Amino acid sequence: MVYRPADAGGHTRQEIKTDDTIGFYVIMPLMSFERFLRIYKKFYFDEVKAHTLLYGVLSGSCANCKTMDIKLDSPQCPSCKNAFKYIAFMNPRDHWPKMLKIAQERTDVIFMDYDDFKKSEGELRAKDILK
Ligand SMILES: [Zn+2]
Repeated sequence: MVYRPADAGGHTRQEIKTDDTIGFYVIMPLMSFERFLRIYKKFYFDEVKAHTLLYGVLSGSCANCKTMDIKLDSPQCPSCKNAFKYIAFMNPRDHWPKMLKIAQERTDVIFMDYDDFKKSEGELRAKDILK
């Protein structure tokens, strides 16, 4: 017997009856599926900025040294040599197939919200000006 309770989190619970009196349940991830979910997590912005590839309309740039025309599949910046651990797309919907491909090939890369990045960068710049 297989049933799928609404709150099973995408998992299917399969009941295996061993005899008439004892039944036990095995939680199996049969129905698990992958989706992009936006999450919130605290980061040290300087650390993130040093390892972010910003992807605009047509090309990428290094958030650390501002080098432009960086290919999306570059694992590191050709100028400052920093590894790209984060990628922020200006228009994620326009680059959906690219994001799916990167997510499959480079499972360690984290996609970040472009506006979040720009907002934090602006706040940092404003603080520096006020110093
Ligand atoms: Zn760089």
